[in-house]
Amino acid sequence: MKKPVIDLGECSLCDICVALCPEVFIKNSAGYIEVAECLAGASESDIIDAINSCRGDCISWDETTETEGV
Ligand code: SF4
Repeated sequence: MKKPVIDLGECSLCDICVALCPEVFIKNSAGYIEVAECLAGASESDIIDAINSCRGDCISWDETTETEGV
């Protein structure tokens, strides 16, 4: 499964991605959004929902990354 990446420079920390797909999008202790290391159990359609709902339009697919387990 491809992995999403976040352009933190455009991220407004609105938390929509965390609300829609908490298995993948995590707010770290510094207050920034990061993508979980392991995407096992994540739903691609939930990730797509988050991409489409992102206010900053700052989530995209990392085409260079393939993860296993999904
Ligand atoms: S939905 Fe987009 S703008 Fe909002 S916290 Fe997630 S990455 Fe940032």
